Amino acid sequence: MPKLSIKDLDLKDKTTFIRVDYNVPLSPDGKEITSDKRIRASLATIQYALEHGSGVILASHLGRPKGKPQPTMSLKPVAARLKELLGRPVAMAPDSVGPATAAMRPKPGEVLLLENLRFHPEEEANDPEFSKQLAGLADVYVNDAFGSAHRAHASTVGMVSYVPLAAAGLLMDKELEWLTRATKNPERPCIALLGGAKVSDKIEVIQNLLRVVDKLLVGGAMAYTFLRAQGKTTGRSLVEEDKIPLAARLLEMAGAKLELPLDHVVVQEIRPGADHKIVTEIGADQIGVDIGPKTVEAYTRTIAAAKTIIWNGPMGIFEMPPFDKGTVALAKAVAQSGAVSVVGGGDSEKAIKTAGVADKITHISTGGGASLEFLAGVDLPGVAVLTDKAAAAL
Ligand code: AMP
Repeated sequence: MPKLSIKDLDLKDKTTFIRVDYNVPLSPDGKEITSDKRIRASLATIQYALEHGSGVILASHLGRPKGKPQPTMSLKPVAARLKELLGRPVAMAPDSVGPATAAMRPKPGEVLLLENLRFHPEEEANDPEFSKQLAGLADVYVNDAFGSAHRAHASTVGMVSYVPLAAAGLLMDKELEWLTRATKNPERPCIALLGGAKVSDKIEVIQNLLRVVDKLLVGGAMAYTFLRAQGKTTGRSLVEEDKIPLAARLLEMAGAKLELPLDHVVVQEIRPGADHKIVTEIGADQIGVDIGPKTVEAYTRTIAAAKTIIWNGPMGIFEMPPFDKGTVALAKAVAQSGAVSVVGGGDSEKAIKTAGVADKITHISTGGGASLEFLAGVDLPGVAVLTDKAAAAL
């Protein structure tokens, strides 16, 4: 990787500031963590820093407290859970900056969790003074919050100007490694599977992936806007009418690379267990809710031959069985393909879990928005500011 990794740093007797992603789901009263997945995902980097002689400061945002302290969005429950998972004390700072927090500087082997960064409006405003104060807490900066790397905030971008070295944590490193491998010189054939609700959300992703992949297989409601651009009927399916001309341009740009569903699962009304049919042409009163079996077969053949697979977005209304069939079938096909598979976005991850194949996927990205921006070819601000390996060697 071109960016400095935590593994390249001398951490002994240093205070290492790690930007983590503890934006965890909480119960409405803010007291219970309903999923500790993100806390578990941060452990490897924290343990690495501790084992290499650092004191560790952890910083994160949680929810949208709108720049004010909100007791229901405190990181205190995270400190308690982290203590259990690490098996060592975790001190909780009263704030993310200020003298009382600075006085709690952790010694080697100690861990300090700062309070929610977004209790200060300066965090999202990327305020230089706030950035300087954060940087002043530590000797070394590590960013392990890939899910926040597409945001230019004080803790992801601003404070980097005030630290000598800024490195990627182990989780960030893994994200960048697999996303880079899938998009820069991938093993071929390289294909992408794109689904979800709207073309408009993924225009840049489609444009960028068309430069990278050998085939782009489209599903989900997004496909209907493309079908309309081809003059096909879509009945009452979800279509972005104003994006039909754009879809036509994308089709022209893509040529034979872009494949659309050959058949569809249709209903008269969207509800769980609704009567459904398989059609190749959608009737005026029908709504497309999933890709049909012929499409599954055709896409599965392409998937089986692929060496690299990038996937974002479900192939149908997968939250509502049996309209998850197409998505689940393709998840299984991806798992069986033996290809390098990189999946981004919460919905695709859920579909992969429903299919029970998560352990056969090479990499499931932890950052929905960030991974989409990466796939769109955007230089993520939180990654761009990390120290280049080449510069660090000078
Ligand atoms: P996205 O966030 O763009 O990946 O979109 C995910 C959403 O797209 C999911 O909530 C799906 O239910 C929805 N979706 C996928 N296929 C369809 C469809 N045929 N009609 C309506 N919604 C769909």
